[in-house]
Amino acid sequence: MRLDSVGVSTCLHSRLSGWSLFAVDSIVLIPPTSFSCSKVFEGFPCCHRQWAHPGHCRFVHGYSRSFTLQFAALELDPCGFVVDFSSLRPLDSKLRDQFDHTFLVNADDPLLEEWHRLHNLGAIDLRVMKNVGMESTALLVWEWANALMLERDGGRTCCWSVEARENSMNAAVYNRVPSWFKTTSTKHESF
Ligand SMILES: [Zn+2]
Repeated sequence: MRLDSVGVSTCLHSRLSGWSLFAVDSIVLIPPTSFSCSKVFEGFPCCHRQWAHPGHCRFVHGYSRSFTLQFAALELDPCGFVVDFSSLRPLDSKLRDQFDHTFLVNADDPLLEEWHRLHNLGAIDLRVMKNVGMESTALLVWEWANALMLERDGGRTCCWSVEARENSMNAAVYNRVPSWFKTTSTKHESF
């Protein structure tokens, strides 16, 4: 796992008590609240290229991508969940639409016209992204997840970490707690 470009184990809301630790591979992630849960989305075979890469990453190549999302909440829902996983279907659909049997290219790919041509010929299912790499993908999925969390729970829950993985060896992580996430509560003050 690459650690250089991601904010792993940064101090997330260290003023909160009741920390717990999450071990993901060898990385320790610190959730912003006492309650947290994780959900894996997997089975997204797609291909991409990094046209500006001087090595072999400029060639079209593919992986089955997977995503591990970490969620947090100060207070549980009426069923006792941080996040009701069945409510994440819209996110699963979004991931499937973007990463299932698709071809991903960067918006500034000089062959973009060619890729559009192949798409129109029915040879590829093209998705144009700001950047197809795991780091930018993790950020994109974090944005999607939190748009859903905010809409559903009004700030009770958030997604504070996304790992985007391309194979068993390579992944990138994006960690951030959204500003609207409710990190204070009166309910637990007597504890
Ligand atoms: Zn590559």
